[in-house]
Amino acid sequence: MRIDTKLIHGGVFGDERTGAVSVPIYQVSTYKQDAIGKHRGYEYSRTGNPTREALEKLIVDLENGVRGLAFSSGMAAISSVLSLFDQGDHLVVGDDIYGGTYRVMSGVFNRMGLDFSYVDTSRPEDVVEAIRPETKAVYMETPSNPLLKVTDIRKLVEICRDRGLLLIVDNTFLTPYWQNPLDLGADIVVHSATKYLGGHSDVVAGLIAVKDESLGERLHYLQNSIGGVLPPHDSWLLIRGIKTLGLRMRQHESSTRKLVEWLQSRSDIQGIYYPGLKEHPGFGVAASQARGFGGMFSFDVGSGERAEKVLSRTKLFTLAESLGAVESLISVPARMTHASIPPERRQELGITDGLIRVSVGVEDVQDLLEDLEQALR
Ligand SMILES: *Cc1c(COP(=O)(O)O)cnc(C)c1O
Repeated sequence: MRIDTKLIHGGVFGDERTGAVSVPIYQVSTYKQDAIGKHRGYEYSRTGNPTREALEKLIVDLENGVRGLAFSSGMAAISSVLSLFDQGDHLVVGDDIYGGTYRVMSGVFNRMGLDFSYVDTSRPEDVVEAIRPETKAVYMETPSNPLLKVTDIRKLVEICRDRGLLLIVDNTFLTPYWQNPLDLGADIVVHSATKYLGGHSDVVAGLIAVKDESLGERLHYLQNSIGGVLPPHDSWLLIRGIKTLGLRMRQHESSTRKLVEWLQSRSDIQGIYYPGLKEHPGFGVAASQARGFGGMFSFDVGSGERAEKVLSRTKLFTLAESLGAVESLISVPARMTHASIPPERRQELGITDGLIRVSVGVEDVQDLLEDLEQALR
């Protein structure tokens, strides 16, 4: 099956018993046992629920893994992955990962004895240099946020394989529609399904997929032990959202390309960050490891004041954090998602006050273009 078909027919299709073409919502906590210790595959919904399981099988099919797990948020999924490690273990982590991931690492798991080194994973030599005898894993995102830096997944796979390290990839930005890290050799894929997979700004969820049975078993043990599972109704919403992932991703991308090319033709923009542009330093690697470039881009309007004006004047781009929805969203990372990073560090990373990040929705692209044009004017 090709990916667009898998989105519809992957996982569990409908309901065997009634023929319903939509997976039923099993809104239930516990299950009748036929005899003591004799159950029909389900005992308690934290451990397993048929609606959640349908979603978990779907992410397995989409990421070409063997085991999938659904969580109550991306952060619950990421926290469960980090719970694989022991006191004293060290991880090498991308230096521009999602802020919440940085927070749970540096504010929670470090207190439990995990140690993290933050490096620019788009420079594999920096990753190698940060590895120590107690290093157990490398954690990365590509493309990154908000500068859309591209990390070479295959290069990191090589580095990790030689040293027996796990490679964990947050695939939220491209989704399995455009990129399959497990196929490239990564061990664990995590998603904030709140973003493109859900796609409609109506559910908070996280997903994991792995291609090793025993790693999947360990993660299920952690999911069941820690308990951050996705409820049945939210699992159903996510399955529904995923059915249109292909349609949406293609539209997000074609509209992004139009907007980016139009911005390139303007003289009042200081920089445009989109890995689908030939001038982008990550273009070659992105094209070699993904089937698409996604629907996120950033551009620099020169100053914080101008950025603020632009954001106050757009009508179709909603001023909000988050991304990946049918609605176009716009933000100023320096003042919003990345505000907790000290100003000097932000400058170092290139997250200027005039940098605007856009998540392109599926509205008519001409309306989006005209809205940005009047706001820039
Ligand atoms: C939003 C996001 C997360 C966290 O997911 P939640 O669903 O908000 O908990 C993790 N990684 C990336 C790249 C994200 O964009």
